[in-house]
Amino acid sequence: MYVNLVSFATAIADDAVEESVSDLIGDLLAAWRMNGQIYGSEWPIHAHGEAFSTTVLCPEEQSLDDRFNNKYVNKAIARCEMKGLLLATEVLGKHIESLSPCSCSSPSAYVLFTTYVTLVSPIRCIDCFGPIALYRMKATSSDEYSDVISWQSNYQSCDTLQMNCAVLERAATRELSNIESNLSKSGLECCKTLANSSGRPYYYYLYRYYGRSLRTELERRCPGCGNEWRLTPRLHDLFDFKCDHCHLLSNIALDRRWLMASRSEPTTS
Ligand SMILES: [Zn+2]
Ligand SMILES: [Zn+2]
Repeated sequence: MYVNLVSFATAIADDAVEESVSDLIGDLLAAWRMNGQIYGSEWPIHAHGEAFSTTVLCPEEQSLDDRFNNKYVNKAIARCEMKGLLLATEVLGKHIESLSPCSCSSPSAYVLFTTYVTLVSPIRCIDCFGPIALYRMKATSSDEYSDVISWQSNYQSCDTLQMNCAVLERAATRELSNIESNLSKSGLECCKTLANSSGRPYYYYLYRYYGRSLRTELERRCPGCGNEWRLTPRLHDLFDFKCDHCHLLSNIALDRRWLMASRSEPTTS
C-alpha cells in the first residue's frame, strides 16, 4: 500500500465553491474507492489557505494514474475542475505495515478473502497470497466493483461482531461459516463473476471457529459436494481444506486447533 497526498487548488475565488467542496471532493474519493483505487472510507479533508488536502491509501504506487480511472472517476474529476478545484496527487511513500502485492506473472487462481482488520483488496493470489488491486480485474458491476466492496464491508462487519463476542456473535459467526448464509451467497456470486471474466478459479473461504472434536474436524467433508478436501500441509498457514470442484477453502475449527496446540499434539494426524 502507498500513502498518497490528494490536493485541490482553488482556481476560482467563489464562495459557492467552498460550500460544495466537501461534496465534490467526497464524490471523487467515493468513486476512487468503488473503483479500487483507494482503500478505506474515512478521509479527513482539511483547508489550508486557498487549497484543500487529504491523504489516502492506495494499493499500488501508480493507483491514481488516469489510465485506471473509470467513467465515474473521470466525471467526478471533471465536476471538480468545473467548480475550479484543480486536482494534484503526490505519492508520499509506502505504508509501513504494507503487505506486498502479488507480483506473480500469471496466478493459477484467486481467493476472495478479508478480515476485520484488513485494509487491502479482498482479491488475493492463491499462489503467493498477495493482494491484487480491484482495478486490475474486469469491473464486476456497472463499471465498478460495488458488489465486491459491499461483500468485503459486510464480511468485516460480521468478523468484527464475532471478534467482539458481545452482540450477535452467533449470528455473525454463522454468516462467516455457513455456505448457505447471505454473506456466503453474495461472496460466491462475486467469485463466479470474477472467475468468468478472468478465466481463472476464484476460491471462497468459509471461516470455522467451533468444532465438536479434533477427529470430526479432520474428517470433515466439503459442504458443497461432500467429497474429501483435506490439505496437507495447510496452505498459507490459514487453510486446512480446499475443494477444487466447489472452489471452497476452510480451516480446522480454531477452538480445536488451539486445544491441539496447547497439548502439543501433531497437526497432521
Ligand atoms: Zn501472486
Ligand atoms: Zn466440494
